[in-house]
Amino acid sequence: MTARILVVDDIPANVKLLEARLIAEYFDVLTADNGLDALDLCSRTQVDLVLLDIMMPGIDGFEVCERLKANPRTAHIPVVMVTALDQPADRVRGLKAGADDFLTKPVNDLQLMSRVKSLLRLKALSDELRIRAETAHSFGAMSALNNKVNDEPGRILLVDGRASSQERVLKILRPIADVTTMSDPQAALFEAADSSFDLIIVNTNFDDYDPLRLCSQLRSLERTRFIPVLLMTDEGAEHLVVRALDLGVNDYIMRPVDPNELIARSLTQIRRKRYNEKLRSDVAQTIELAVTDPLTGLNNRRYLENHFQLLFDRAAARGRALSVCMTDIDRFKTINDTYGHDVGDEVLREFANRIRAAVRGADLACRYGGEEFVVVMPDTSSEAAAAIAERLREAIETQPFEVKSIGLSLKVTASLGIASNAGAVAGPEGMLRNADKALYDAKNAGRNRVVSAAA
Ligand code: GH3
Ligand code: MG
Ligand code: MG
Repeated sequence: MTARILVVDDIPANVKLLEARLIAEYFDVLTADNGLDALDLCSRTQVDLVLLDIMMPGIDGFEVCERLKANPRTAHIPVVMVTALDQPADRVRGLKAGADDFLTKPVNDLQLMSRVKSLLRLKALSDELRIRAETAHSFGAMSALNNKVNDEPGRILLVDGRASSQERVLKILRPIADVTTMSDPQAALFEAADSSFDLIIVNTNFDDYDPLRLCSQLRSLERTRFIPVLLMTDEGAEHLVVRALDLGVNDYIMRPVDPNELIARSLTQIRRKRYNEKLRSDVAQTIELAVTDPLTGLNNRRYLENHFQLLFDRAAARGRALSVCMTDIDRFKTINDTYGHDVGDEVLREFANRIRAAVRGADLACRYGGEEFVVVMPDTSSEAAAAIAERLREAIETQPFEVKSIGLSLKVTASLGIASNAGAVAGPEGMLRNADKALYDAKNAGRNRVVSAAA
């Protein structure tokens, strides 16, 4: 994991110590001995994580953190505050300033590396998704997306073998989250897969159960592998922590638990999970928008152009039939002219519904342009396609279109042209050209009919 870490401390010896350890792990390290320089570095260069001392002359660590989190350009950089063990009040202030995590002086190696790596892993994922969302945005497909990240209290599953410690943890987390507690690890696994938790906390205090088993199962199940896992364990259980982190556990906390540390760590995991979820769904939605016609919900022409080639190649490779039906509403302009554009739109939507009802799931139905639609039908001969088209034509002609906005039912007809991949066809464009010619013939022959192109 290569990343750039900024170490901020006014005491040179502290900087040197952290710098040396991080360089030994092949991190790229920047340093600053005061808050203003730190802020300047973060806004000018790419920084992936900040290790921030609190007591510094000039502006202190709390203020640096606050300013970083208030600036949209730097708000996503994780900040780890380096505090003194005997200063729990510092942690409360750090939390308020938006710190993602804490480390206690003197800094323990395992803690340093696991915290840094856990935060960097989360940041790398967020960055990747943010870049993708921005790319999609530049295509203009994001306008319909809302930008709200879920800010309801997080849902935490606490798996803990002892009632007394369940009580303690519950008391700490209740103000910030909705906590479900379970003492049976196997039942907890099922619960995790069935519900939607934002964080799973696994206490390692079981008498006769290996807690890492649960961690590894959580990481391998499709339904739970994106849920962050926080391990709660005893001082001195370093070997367990190392194995847990290798298994993909996101973070750990030592008993006796410092309430503020637990809150900070839980909130960080929940926040990042939601941020990533949001970005993932934005990306999915953007992809969806980019290939969907907004009026009818059918695929758009861009999607057809990409996907038709694939269906064509597949049919050619397997020696299978492939047909295309191009359809155009008859005298559609008259509907617009008589009832207005909105009624025209309603007719288009209903027309799309009838196409959807007439085709199979494997068929590719799309709006090709204005009142023109195309259906690509894999494993379908020209004759079979003509029969399907005839059924669609009949369904359109015989059932008048109910237009709710004007309380009228309109008689609509359509003309359809069929072409297939039989004979020497020049790819999808050739099929579309032939279908278009057949459609033109159908229009000329009096409309409301199906015409197949000669093979
Ligand atoms: P033909 O039987 O020869 O196909 O006659 P037509 O009137 O259907 O054909 P023409 O191509 O002359 O007119 C198509 C009309 O479709 C013109 C255009 O304004 C309208 N149209 C295109 N896109 C939309 C749309 O999204 N909504 C609405 N309401 N009308 C549209
Ligand atoms: Mg038309
Ligand atoms: Mg037309």
